[in-house]
Amino acid sequence: EGAGELNIARLSAEILAGSRASLARGITLIESNTEQHFQKGQNLLESLLPHSGGSIRIGITGVPGAGKSTFIEVFGSYLCDLGKKVAVLAIDPTSSLSGGSILGDKTRMETLARNPHAFIRPSPSGGKLGGVHRKTRETMLICEAAGFDVILVETVGVGQSEVVVRDMVDFFMLLVLTGAGDELQGMKKGIMELADAIIVNKADGSNQEMANKAREEYNRILHYLQPATKGWATRALACSSIKPSGITDIWELVKDFEIETKRSGIFDDRRRNQTRKWLHSMIADQLQSSFFLDNGVKQILPKIENEVISGSRPVASGVEELFNVYLNKFLK
Ligand code: GDP
Repeated sequence: EGAGELNIARLSAEILAGSRASLARGITLIESNTEQHFQKGQNLLESLLPHSGGSIRIGITGVPGAGKSTFIEVFGSYLCDLGKKVAVLAIDPTSSLSGGSILGDKTRMETLARNPHAFIRPSPSGGKLGGVHRKTRETMLICEAAGFDVILVETVGVGQSEVVVRDMVDFFMLLVLTGAGDELQGMKKGIMELADAIIVNKADGSNQEMANKAREEYNRILHYLQPATKGWATRALACSSIKPSGITDIWELVKDFEIETKRSGIFDDRRRNQTRKWLHSMIADQLQSSFFLDNGVKQILPKIENEVISGSRPVASGVEELFNVYLNKFLK
């Protein structure tokens, strides 16, 4: 059966019934860049949407080498042992910028990948970050419909990717390396203010004491920062992904967070706001590309650029002329 005759109702039923192969096919459809697949993907999503939303969505970020894949391997396996179904998705901003990839190249999470309760999907590549963002979000919804209880969305701390992931998850954790105070000073306040937990990884061996010191220091600093989630005091924990230790505490923290924010209503509020924001950002993306691809706009843009750069014309007046040309085509 080719993609052309793909039966969406059947694919949807198979995904709901837990078929791995169908889940993978559904995601491939969502990730496709062709117009024909886009429609089918949207139809599939629409039929699965009522079954989505039941997981806890956890974002994980950190610089390359912080230990993200090692941590996810251990954390994910621990959750599988608890009887959870765990999906691991990734957003790799480097794949859309350079075609290469920081997250995807090495062989990662081999143990978790073999676990029948886990599903690992590498970052979709190609296209704009906005496209990667949409695909990951939609993949997350499909995984939920397929019965996954925990979705881990991993990203590397580059550019805007932390903000993108923060906007699609319930709980966001920042993995950091042990280090002296100077490392902490180099850390951007902005990123700490996105996190619901800061995890000092590699708290083992000769590093353990330093890790605990760093954890205390983070907790001290967090006291002065704006929390990422209203009513939740962000805190720092230490763990080791190779010993392993501290993994249970991290899961307990996530569970506390879920209970507290569900009780206060913040959990559902955030999800509603995330969806609204996503809608708005997709509108903005689409408007922008429609504008710049418009033939009339393309024709006069260089002239207007010259005029405003040389100072002979105010920018707002140039924008007005461009919009008149753009809007004209809808009036014809
Ligand atoms: P990523 O780039 O953030 O995904 O980092 P990796 O998971 O690939 O880990 C980078 C390096 O740190 C690897 O050599 C890991 O073996 C090591 N590493 C990861 N977690 C720990 C840990 O808890 N303790 C120690 N000692 N090493 C770790």
